[in-house]
Amino acid sequence: MSATDLTDHPFGLHHLPYGAFSLPGDAGDVRLAVRVGDEALDLRAAGAGTPWAEALRGPTLNPLLELGPQAWAGLRGWLQETLADDGGRRALAEHLHPVDGIRLHLPLEVRDYVDFYASEQHATNVGRIFRPDGDALTPNWKHLPIGYHGRSSTVVVSGTDVVRPTGQRRGKDDPAPVFGPSVRLDIEAELGFVVGGSTPVGSRVTVDEAEHHLFGVALFNDWSARDIQAWEYVPLGPFLGKSFASSVAAWVTPMAALAAARVPLPAQDPEPLPYLLGSGGSLFGLDITLEVRLNGTVVSRPPYRGMYWSPTQMLAHLTVNGAALSSGDLFASGTVSGDRPDQRGSLLELTWSGAEPITLEDGTTRTFLQDGDTVTITATAPGPGGAPVGLAEVTGTVRPAV
Ligand code: CA
Repeated sequence: MSATDLTDHPFGLHHLPYGAFSLPGDAGDVRLAVRVGDEALDLRAAGAGTPWAEALRGPTLNPLLELGPQAWAGLRGWLQETLADDGGRRALAEHLHPVDGIRLHLPLEVRDYVDFYASEQHATNVGRIFRPDGDALTPNWKHLPIGYHGRSSTVVVSGTDVVRPTGQRRGKDDPAPVFGPSVRLDIEAELGFVVGGSTPVGSRVTVDEAEHHLFGVALFNDWSARDIQAWEYVPLGPFLGKSFASSVAAWVTPMAALAAARVPLPAQDPEPLPYLLGSGGSLFGLDITLEVRLNGTVVSRPPYRGMYWSPTQMLAHLTVNGAALSSGDLFASGTVSGDRPDQRGSLLELTWSGAEPITLEDGTTRTFLQDGDTVTITATAPGPGGAPVGLAEVTGTVRPAV
């Protein structure tokens, strides 16, 4: 593809997401790449002799993440300039591989993983389902971005099968706990944020500083076993109902590619405490529209732009107690749900806890996931000059319990 062909491509020069790949027959040789249209540029080879060569030599983005925002901008600028130039492009041609012919790997070593709960609509729906007689939102919800620490070692790359988890549940008609495969396996359509730039224990990252630690975003599916979750979560929150698998897209979209997608946050009332406000200029939402497919049928189009908390507020809150950041930390937004029923980001909400099954294009119905089901989440955002930014898909297929 020429540079002009890439102008309107969802993975064009205005996007340039990062990933990791191997070639057929050599799965052990994992290299970093940047996606250019329908090709992947081998960054280990292309980056040799550049100021970023050392950080691009390994199989993960972690060394590049540690270099910080000036290096990220420098590398991105060099890539855009070089790839837009015919001569520069020709010089790199031997390092370009069609994406159809490569295998993608998890592009970062996930250090800590935190999952937030930043959609007011999602939190309200869940509150109504689980606590029909109480307030939908808990008293703390509008004062802090609620989150929990998940299990980083079970964050898997898009395309990885998800084995149905087994565990304890106790339904409302069960006289005693039951052990067995989850019967209420769900998805949560989310946006993941990749963090770079380590900070020491005992320090804080302010809202204004947080942006310098946001490297990029990747679509995220927080698979959830609702029956295991419901029985275990009081009083300490999600545990085994979430930690069996969390899928992340194979390509990480740089924050710089989303400059045109920034939107103001919804009004925050009551006003959050000062540490969550910063100077005001660092608070933003993102105009990203997700699309959730179940076995090919679009079941939801959740809009990220209505999310209540800014990613900078989430990161500031995460460190306000002195918790350290590591390059390779990952935090996810929480389920993205909009105002309308067809904008809900989980089956729990789409089927109202199983009471209202959805119908797929093949005529079958679902409340929760069946073995063999494939869930794929994609998204688009406005790019510069109207060109779309297409976030790489996150997909996974449910396999039977073992
Ligand atoms: Ca979640």
